[in-house]
Amino acid sequence: MNILEIIAKKRDNEKITKEEIEYFIKGYTNDEISDYQAAALIMAMYINGMDEEEITNLTLAMAYSGEVLDLSSLGSVVDKHSTGGVGDKVTLILMPIIAALGIPVAKMSGRGLGFTGGTADKLEAIPGYRTGLSVNEFKENVKKIGISLITQTGNLAPADKKIYALRDTISCIENIPLIASSIMSKKIASGANKVVLDVTCGSGAFMKNKNEAIKLAKTMKKIGDLSKKETVCIITNMDEPLGEYVGNTLEVIEAINALKDNMKDDVRQVVLELGAYMIKLAGKGDNIQENKGMIQECIKSGKAYEKLKQLVKNQGGDIRYIENVELFEKAKFEKQILAGKQGYIEKLDAGEIGKVVCMLGAGRIKKEDKIDMEAGALIHKKVGDYVENTDKILTLYANNEEKLKQVEMQIAKAIVISDKRNEKIPSIMEII
Ligand code: URA
Repeated sequence: MNILEIIAKKRDNEKITKEEIEYFIKGYTNDEISDYQAAALIMAMYINGMDEEEITNLTLAMAYSGEVLDLSSLGSVVDKHSTGGVGDKVTLILMPIIAALGIPVAKMSGRGLGFTGGTADKLEAIPGYRTGLSVNEFKENVKKIGISLITQTGNLAPADKKIYALRDTISCIENIPLIASSIMSKKIASGANKVVLDVTCGSGAFMKNKNEAIKLAKTMKKIGDLSKKETVCIITNMDEPLGEYVGNTLEVIEAINALKDNMKDDVRQVVLELGAYMIKLAGKGDNIQENKGMIQECIKSGKAYEKLKQLVKNQGGDIRYIENVELFEKAKFEKQILAGKQGYIEKLDAGEIGKVVCMLGAGRIKKEDKIDMEAGALIHKKVGDYVENTDKILTLYANNEEKLKQVEMQIAKAIVISDKRNEKIPSIMEII
């Protein structure tokens, strides 16, 4: 067997075998297969697709490319993952809530991908916070305080870590087999026995319409069934950015405020729905409405906020920043984007806003790019809101003034104002 034959098979739209997929994953993880050969194969997978058996084999090969944790001694561990979005800070808010409710949280998060943000990058906006723990530290943290949030360490699904970063730089992100195998390999490796997946849908997500999102959800659910992990998928709207802020430090600040019971309505809908299903899967409550009540109560009591502080402290972060968000560095430059006309906001394109924020420095264009933690956007208005000429729609932030000038034309494309009032966008679209 050799990699050239495998690339040629997939290029010619033939099915590749379990052994061939394992050969590729092992070789790429060990640096025996080069980035350009892996890029060719991934592109062929992207263009020609993969059937169910190939997707399952790819998922398992990536999951077992490193250590697969067994967290059964911790009880029922329920994990959560999002397929990615713009302004999606749900993990930062929800996971401390779940841990405060006594359900163990052991979560491995990704970095920004394409125009979407990543929880690992956001956590690193907190001075001192260590995302790169060893597997042992990760498990010990969960045992000690009931929660650990890390990024992919050397030995948990290392194949996904490499392929994820590669896909980001060769325009191979928006693809059901590649997204499903990436997410589910991480879920299998990190040892949770149940999973709630936030499958985002809309311009700021990788799945642009509901049919595609349902297809992705069903693919991941199938992998979950095969690996004996009960999986619930919640399709959520990502046509406009979620919440008030987009960008790493800015989203951390929004998450801290949310845990102090100051949460935007669209974020609250997603947090409550995902959280209610996590509680159900953990066996702590069958009634979704009552579970939502438990979450609200947990926030109000201050327990979820205290859990966030405990998490940050335990992973080396400076909790003075959590206690006083004014300490976070601010971007040097800002630009107000005004309505320029009267009317109702018809569209606030999350995809375009995500791309602009990425160009301002909040995301990576190349693998090795350093992130500008303070770059981002404040969303003043949402779809359905009425605006006057001089009302602010967005404020953009960056440490590079030149970049703020460069995005002027592009940001204009993200905003549509019209005479007729569009309904507010509901966040929850379907449960699968
Ligand atoms: N999140 C992941 O972990 N992988 C993807 O491919 C997309 C979103």
